[in-house]
Amino acid sequence: MNKAGKKKTGVYENVVKQFNKAADLIDFDPEIRKVLATTQNELTVNFPVKMDDGHIEIFSGYRVQHNNALGPYKGGLRYHPAVDIDEVRALATWMTWKSAIVHIPFGGAKGGIQCDPFKYSRSEIQRITRRFTYALGCNIGPEYDIPAPDVNTNAQIMAWILDTYLSTQSPLTRQASVHVVTGKPVESGGSLGRDKATGQGVVFTIEQWAKDRKHDLKGATHFVQGYGNVGSWAAMLMKPYGAKMVAVSDLCGCFQNPEGIEPHELNDYFKKNRTFDGFPKLRKIDDKQFLSTKADIFIPAALENQITAETADLLNVKVVAEGANGPTDPDGDEILQKKGIDIIPDVLCNAGGVIVSYFEWLQNKRSECWDLDEVDRKLRKIIVGGYDRVRDAAKTHKTDWRTAAYIVALTRLERVYKERGIFP
Ligand code: NAD
Repeated sequence: MNKAGKKKTGVYENVVKQFNKAADLIDFDPEIRKVLATTQNELTVNFPVKMDDGHIEIFSGYRVQHNNALGPYKGGLRYHPAVDIDEVRALATWMTWKSAIVHIPFGGAKGGIQCDPFKYSRSEIQRITRRFTYALGCNIGPEYDIPAPDVNTNAQIMAWILDTYLSTQSPLTRQASVHVVTGKPVESGGSLGRDKATGQGVVFTIEQWAKDRKHDLKGATHFVQGYGNVGSWAAMLMKPYGAKMVAVSDLCGCFQNPEGIEPHELNDYFKKNRTFDGFPKLRKIDDKQFLSTKADIFIPAALENQITAETADLLNVKVVAEGANGPTDPDGDEILQKKGIDIIPDVLCNAGGVIVSYFEWLQNKRSECWDLDEVDRKLRKIIVGGYDRVRDAAKTHKTDWRTAAYIVALTRLERVYKERGIFP
């Protein structure tokens, strides 16, 4: 479960397996296959930061740019002990597929710093962030590569990245560079609705799935793994449909209440206490009991490789809505399919974040501010478009939804490469 920040193995291997499965199914052009099977640029920076007590620590940061055929590189930054080049490579590649599936003009990138951010003070995190941004230098840029929040990073961290980046630019170009990063605080050029965007997208795809399956969300039960940005927003946004959260987990453990857990109150409590312990009427359960929770929907919203050959058998749900990136490995995937559990794959399910990041980027470029209704309306339209394409591809190719999602992305990228050719 990576609770101790233990290194995971083979996340990129999962991407390669998923990629090959889809490419084989559609007789993907072998030459373009070589191009997409490779990341374009991989940067590792080792940089020193002065801690509050005066000693120096050296940090390793990464930025992997997988592909920019469809637009500038785009993807989040993660601060976590398990961040390494393999993980960042996988996350960058998923970003390319994601933007291709929902038809937004971005490529794929990801980055992060190998560190446990909870060990550092706010001012240390600020210096780590600023020094990392400085080390990345011109490898990021508003029309080139645009970071955003991911695990353990947030709007405040994006504001520090923005400030550092702008401070190192010529004064003449500063105001034209605010879109170098998305997920900023609204006052600093962020978009309304970006904080909840990924959770909102998860819920929009669940809504579509429920319509397709003629499954009433009123009274439907769900449980959530990871109560951070994605998990907590997804839980809170499921409530207006009349759905009930019956279990929840985070690093503090797994908890259940079959009567239903009020997601907003839990969110307030968790933000204040960083634990669910002491929240009324919650019963602590173990990992196995948590994953065995009988419910309609499971929303993994923590880290990779949670649903595996060891754990997939435990699941007793109708659908897994992948809020997290890569929560299901290929073995887990096979087991879920055998059990007849639907999967809304990560590259579609959690695309709401990058979609609203695109809106933020557009608003910055045009000096506009959209209201929340406009953001939500446009988000719904774009993510439902992606959902329909994936569902239709699954039908046409008689395959599972993850492979179908890859087929949608690969077909689009193949077309673009064929139109443009390979330079020179
Ligand atoms: P976050 O840091 O806000 O929240 C993650 C939460 O998961 C934290 O509360 C953390 O304590 C918890 N967690 C970590 N390991 C856990 C474990 N083993 N079991 C249970 N809980 C655990 O991060 P986030 O932005 O919500 O990202 C969560 C997932 O969603 C990641 O896979 C991320 O890549 C993906 N994602 C995020 C966004 C976004 O916009 N933030 C967009 C797309 C995908």
